[in-house]
Amino acid sequence: MFAKELNELKKKDLIRQIISHTSPLRSTITIKGRKYINFSTNDYLGLASHPEVIKALISALRKYAFGTGASRLLAGGSILHEMLEEQISNFKGTESALVFNSGYSANTGIIPVIASDGDVIFSDELNHASIIDGCRLSTARTVIYRHRDMTHLKALIKKGRTGRKIVITDTVFSMDGDIAPLSDICDICTSHDAILYIDDAHGTGVLGNGIGALAHSNIKPEPWIIQMGTFSKALGSFGAFVAGSKDVIKWISNTSRSFIFSTALPSCIISASIAAIKLIKKDRTLIKRLWSNREMLMEGLKGLHYDTMGSETPIIPLRADSIKDALRLSRYLYKKGIYVPAIRPPSVREPRIRITVSAAHTEKHIELLISTLKRFR
Ligand SMILES: *Cc1c(COP(=O)(O)O)cnc(C)c1O
Repeated sequence: MFAKELNELKKKDLIRQIISHTSPLRSTITIKGRKYINFSTNDYLGLASHPEVIKALISALRKYAFGTGASRLLAGGSILHEMLEEQISNFKGTESALVFNSGYSANTGIIPVIASDGDVIFSDELNHASIIDGCRLSTARTVIYRHRDMTHLKALIKKGRTGRKIVITDTVFSMDGDIAPLSDICDICTSHDAILYIDDAHGTGVLGNGIGALAHSNIKPEPWIIQMGTFSKALGSFGAFVAGSKDVIKWISNTSRSFIFSTALPSCIISASIAAIKLIKKDRTLIKRLWSNREMLMEGLKGLHYDTMGSETPIIPLRADSIKDALRLSRYLYKKGIYVPAIRPPSVREPRIRITVSAAHTEKHIELLISTLKRFR
């Protein structure tokens, strides 16, 4: 079964491979007994292996047990879940927040309940797959605007007349590393009385001193802005959150199916997220190091004639002319002990390799990546 379909994928160089490492997640990882410098992780600050995060996880594991046995509404969550929600709303400057089990379940669970019959969603064409799926699950009409194209968004939003209007965008686009023009988007939302829903998965812990994309763009967390983000990227943990006004969060916790019908995250994971936020609040040097590493890599790439596709963040794609070329470059780096994955359709339209740089990389790691890329061309 499915042999024919699989063969079609293979012919197009689109077979994906699950890659498993046998080491802790750090700036280097071991795959099949060989050590690689890892330029593929979204663990931007190296918090996944931070001793404070691990310590918090273990102590909560001892105190609250592991499994949670039920959803939040059936007492599956502990007081730690509430503490994390309070911490997130303080951090983001909103009235309230709610924890979700993953970014994927947040987007697919929230979008259908904030946009429904008669409403119109305006969605950037490069939004994350979980947003696309959230839009598909919503009974609202979805209109796609060209990537970061404000003229296009304005033209489209003018047309929709009845119902609620909801603009949805990634803050940092996960495969391109560019940033949504949030100030312009906010202006458009205000003039058209639209709600803004942002996915700050790659902004939280990275932009605006770690607070996220709104802080980066000097935008106040207005009640008509709903912010979603994850604990699974820069915070090195697992799970997601939505932050916004009291009523919005209350509405989501009463209606969102992925919140209501899913078992609560283990308290030890919540405890790790709490520790991670405390860490970045206490010490911004990690974020500074992330950005200086990013600058160093971009500087090194300058003379090498790669197209970084408008990257503005620690996500740095290098454009490839074809799927084959993307695979060739990724395999070359792999042979040299550097792991940078090739990204192909349907994840992206234009094939590329996707480098993510982190605070945990050393100068040597970055120098080696640059010199290896130099030898490839
Ligand atoms: C990773 C990601 C998600 C999904 O988050 P998970 O916690 O991994 O499910 C959602 N949105 C964006 C933009 C992401 O990059």
